[in-house]
Amino acid sequence: MNLFENLGLSRELFEVIERLGFTKPTQIQERSIPHIMKGRDVIGESETGSGKTLAFGSGIVDKVVPGKGVQALVLSPTRELAEQVKESIKQLSHGKHLRIMSVYGGVSINPQIHDLTNAEVVVATPGRLLDHLNRRTIDLSRVKILVLDEADRMLDMGFIDDVEKIIRVCPKQRQTMFFSATISYEIKRLADRYLNNPIEVLTNKYVDPSKLKQVYYDVSKNMKISVLVHLLREEDTDLVLVFCNTRRTTDFVVKNLRTNKVNAIAIHGGLSQNKRTSTLKSFNDAKAEVLVCTDVAARGLHIENVSHVYNYEIPKDSKDYVHRIGRTARAGESGKVINILCDLDHDNFGRIQRDYRNFEIENLDTPRVEQATTVRVESRGRSNNRGRPNTWRRSAPRRDGRPRGSGPRRDNEGPRRHDNQRRSDAPRRHDGQRRTDSPKRHDSSRRTDDGPKRDDGSKRSDSPKRNDSGPRKFHGPKRRYDNRRKGPRGNFRR
Ligand code: AMP
Repeated sequence: MNLFENLGLSRELFEVIERLGFTKPTQIQERSIPHIMKGRDVIGESETGSGKTLAFGSGIVDKVVPGKGVQALVLSPTRELAEQVKESIKQLSHGKHLRIMSVYGGVSINPQIHDLTNAEVVVATPGRLLDHLNRRTIDLSRVKILVLDEADRMLDMGFIDDVEKIIRVCPKQRQTMFFSATISYEIKRLADRYLNNPIEVLTNKYVDPSKLKQVYYDVSKNMKISVLVHLLREEDTDLVLVFCNTRRTTDFVVKNLRTNKVNAIAIHGGLSQNKRTSTLKSFNDAKAEVLVCTDVAARGLHIENVSHVYNYEIPKDSKDYVHRIGRTARAGESGKVINILCDLDHDNFGRIQRDYRNFEIENLDTPRVEQATTVRVESRGRSNNRGRPNTWRRSAPRRDGRPRGSGPRRDNEGPRRHDNQRRSDAPRRHDGQRRTDSPKRHDSSRRTDDGPKRDDGSKRSDSPKRNDSGPRKFHGPKRRYDNRRKGPRGNFRR
């Protein structure tokens, strides 16, 4: 018997779902579809892979009419998720001839402008959608279904203002659905504002804790790669995800795994869309067994058969840890989470242990491993910053989606230096000279005009005033920085 029968689906949808091979609704489907089909607003607690797309997609396919303009809008945090959702809704709409398109940045806008002229369902990332709204190349006046997919992630990525702007452009008379792995205070606040008497659908976590083993090794920083390589060789694995906190570490890890003959590929926000898509395809087709990734890049990707999740670095936000481990031990399969810690991870790891006291994370003795060959990655440096001072970059959102101020982009690895030498690849100064080119200072005083903050934290004003005239140095757009610190408009303007 097909258990989708009693959920209020139309005959056509039921048949499509049956043809797709689904006979038993997942929890989120069972609990939300009856309300969705009745047109109720819904807040659904659901993770990637829990089957939420089929749930809200059923409502969309049922209510959208061909040839009547954009009637359903789904907002997604990432391009990959937007693509996946588009494909799932396409499958569901089999036989109905709906025009469903995805809209995201990083690709040319012109084909999108063309396709938007006759689309009925749009799955979009907020930034590019706003771009279309500003250009008036999309008309949302006929939207009757609005979905926020992975809503918590969208807020984490700093899209809240964009999302609210978009919601306000949609007609008030509509059905609105929020789906989110966690229903946080912010989600509730947003729901209070924009949802109309919503049904709240909570689910048990899709990950089965009894099938999930979590362990950690505490190692020295320069042994992390060696331990990772050793474990990847020793453990009996299916597909493996290795999480890093930054793009740079991701590049470093993938390069070193390959050097040590591990078939690994990387995905992070710094890669082009084509590269991300092809990487994901290789992984899903099991052409590579190890995917090294950042949280943002991995978020929302539907990847099955992940047997092991490695944390090469421990995330700063303990919620990210929960998202990471949720990628394995799914659908009744068992899974293992392996944390490889060094000193730098202890604070973050301690936070996870405090926030999730029920997690049993076993400490294992570090295996005897040979030092693996390690290679360095080229610094991305400031090459695409055209020599602008750092402060200019602060105002733009980070491309990996993490909020600013959530920790430096550090290169966490690379061979240790024992010789106190300066790094020969130190970033170039604005004038093109390397720091090592400059004459050595013998008075041990720091320059106060353009040097970094003193170690004792004292301010520049502590230093004796310079009366010398000479050409003034460019300090960067200081006022902008001051404004930021004194509130949105700055104190001086009041
Ligand atoms: P989500 O990203 O939460 O929409 O999950 C999508 C994945 O769940 C896809 O791989 C679907 O094939 C799968 N899926 C959706 N509904 C079901 C179901 N009732 N039974 C088994 N798998 C499902």
